[in-house]
Amino acid sequence: MLIELAVGDAYGAGFEYADPDFIAERNLLTGYVQHPTHLGVRPGAYTDDTQMTLAIAELLISGDSWGREALAECFVRAYHRDPRDGYARRFQLFLDTVHSGADLLARIDPVSDKSGAAMRAGPIGLLPTVDDVLHYTLEQARITHDTADGIAAAQAAALAVHYCHHRLGPVAELPEWIGAELDRSWARPWRGRVGSKGWMSVRAALTALSMSTRLSQVLHTAVAWTGDVDTVATIALAAGSRATDIEQDLPNSLVDGLENGAYGRDYLRQVDTRLLAEFS
Ligand SMILES: [Mg+2]
Repeated sequence: MLIELAVGDAYGAGFEYADPDFIAERNLLTGYVQHPTHLGVRPGAYTDDTQMTLAIAELLISGDSWGREALAECFVRAYHRDPRDGYARRFQLFLDTVHSGADLLARIDPVSDKSGAAMRAGPIGLLPTVDDVLHYTLEQARITHDTADGIAAAQAAALAVHYCHHRLGPVAELPEWIGAELDRSWARPWRGRVGSKGWMSVRAALTALSMSTRLSQVLHTAVAWTGDVDTVATIALAAGSRATDIEQDLPNSLVDGLENGAYGRDYLRQVDTRLLAEFS
């Protein structure tokens, strides 16, 4: 799951809010694309979406208790051991000045309704029950996105993984199921450019999943929406990687081209193995 969502994030990062013509020409899945203006994110590098998801995955397999301070601490640690671009500018400037979970909690104003809590929620979907998924996701969302929309988007993203991982039905019926669990609006198909609100990325991801039979198709569709597509691709590939009715056909060029430094491909694969062993 972590490898696939990181591929989605890194591939989507080349197209985030890029011109639709640029996307139409280059969204070919043949390799990573240098973003036309975000020159600090090189092709094959993942962004905040994967880094924060990794932090959550590590906490889930650590045996440590799930709580506000532990969550805040794992976000701070994941950033400072491996600082990278891709975070929202203001949040990154804030993270640069924060050195512990307690410090983050004391100083953050967690009022965002954007996609940050949803983009990192995937691993929580592996938990055994819907109630666990909703509760754990609520706790992690509240660290930075303590708003009704920010929390609901995170819960919908985690439930998408839950539905696929626990084989609750065909992926084509995923939006309907989330609509029944949370709110009817999640069942409505997405169309067009994806803005910065969390619910937009999740709705676009659910639609991409429900239209697809192959993981490469999920990725292509997620990016073709245009807008905040690294987040759409991260959310969609986290769930799609666990779906037995989605063919796992990500191109080798994307898997092999994923960054492989200290916290890159090999590290993600190790954590992935432990995570799936813990929750299978
Ligand atoms: Mg990102």
